[in-house]
Amino acid sequence: MIHFTCTCGNALFFENTLCLQCNSQVGYDLGDNTMKPVASPYVQCRNGTEFGVCNWLVQAGGPEYCTACALNHMVPDLSVAGNKDSWHKMENAKHRAIYTLARMGLTPWDKKTRPDGLTFDFLTPIPNLCVMTGHDEGVITLNLNEADDLYRERQRHNLGEPYRTLVGHFRHELGHYYWDRFFAQSQENDPLLMEYRALFGDEREDYSAALAKYYANGPVPTWSTTHITCYATAHPWEDWAETWAQYLHIVDGVETAGSFGWAGKSVPIPFTPFKAQEVLADTPGADASFLITLNDWARLSPALNEMASSLGHTTMYPFIFSVKTAQKILFIHKAVGFAAQSWAKPVPTEAPSVQGPAVQTPAVQAPAVQAPAVQTPAAAAA
Ligand SMILES: [Zn+2]
Ligand SMILES: [Zn+2]
Ligand SMILES: [Zn+2]
Repeated sequence: MIHFTCTCGNALFFENTLCLQCNSQVGYDLGDNTMKPVASPYVQCRNGTEFGVCNWLVQAGGPEYCTACALNHMVPDLSVAGNKDSWHKMENAKHRAIYTLARMGLTPWDKKTRPDGLTFDFLTPIPNLCVMTGHDEGVITLNLNEADDLYRERQRHNLGEPYRTLVGHFRHELGHYYWDRFFAQSQENDPLLMEYRALFGDEREDYSAALAKYYANGPVPTWSTTHITCYATAHPWEDWAETWAQYLHIVDGVETAGSFGWAGKSVPIPFTPFKAQEVLADTPGADASFLITLNDWARLSPALNEMASSLGHTTMYPFIFSVKTAQKILFIHKAVGFAAQSWAKPVPTEAPSVQGPAVQTPAVQAPAVQAPAVQTPAAAAA
């Protein structure tokens, strides 16, 4: 994430709605990646004016919802105390995830516009019905409880995860969505699909059985030499989603550092970078161009971890790359490059979204949670 400058010269940040120097109301314009005053022809997204959960701008007379908010299908019942705050936290994380995708040339289409598009359901569990955060057929479901720090930290502890954040959830589930976009229609002999299977494994392996086995037995002791997280060992789809999330963390993290003038090479610690001949040894078709960014991040992240510890926070980036995980990250970069070439960026005027998202009430939520679609093999458990 870059930082921004107000028309008065003051520094602005991605979630700002007000410039504290000139008192202008400000918002983010995805069109040219700037923060600007809320003034004609720009108006706030309807989720900003009505609920204060979005600070993106839209053009007056066009769609009322911004590119990120137009993706919503079900939003929480805001008459329930606390739901608006939780939704706001979710939206902040979602907007950051969508920002990075847009910067990569992969702005998602709205499912209302295209059948292969994307949509979000923000749901809270109700008696006798649990909500699983997951992806199925372009629908990403978020359990609103994840926005509650106590709940999320308890889940992180119970599941033995070193890292659990809202933006991490969005990036992981988006990984499942983009796997479908990249590979679901591929021929069996498609070179990119074959390369995926060689690196991540064969995704045709029974998903439910694989997950049951993972939860019964846990990962193999040597998992860190081949996978970025324990959970990535559960199934090749989960390995892709976990690695995809890391890829987005790295892209965003390196962009943020760069925006503040901090480069990997400025970190004066002993460091052995991944070398192209080492990482590409058994993947000759791979694209090494991302290796510079990966090495930058591998150098920066220990410094960030120490900074977090200095201020009493937990480890900011608790992941270690192996040659194998570096190969997988490079492969994702290559797949993104292929996809971005053909990805038609949505044009806001072509996707009018004057209808607001459905509001979650027990009546509308029940079918969405009960439907077997949420629990099909394609649904992600985490
Ligand atoms: Zn200003
Ligand atoms: Zn919005
Ligand atoms: Zn998953």
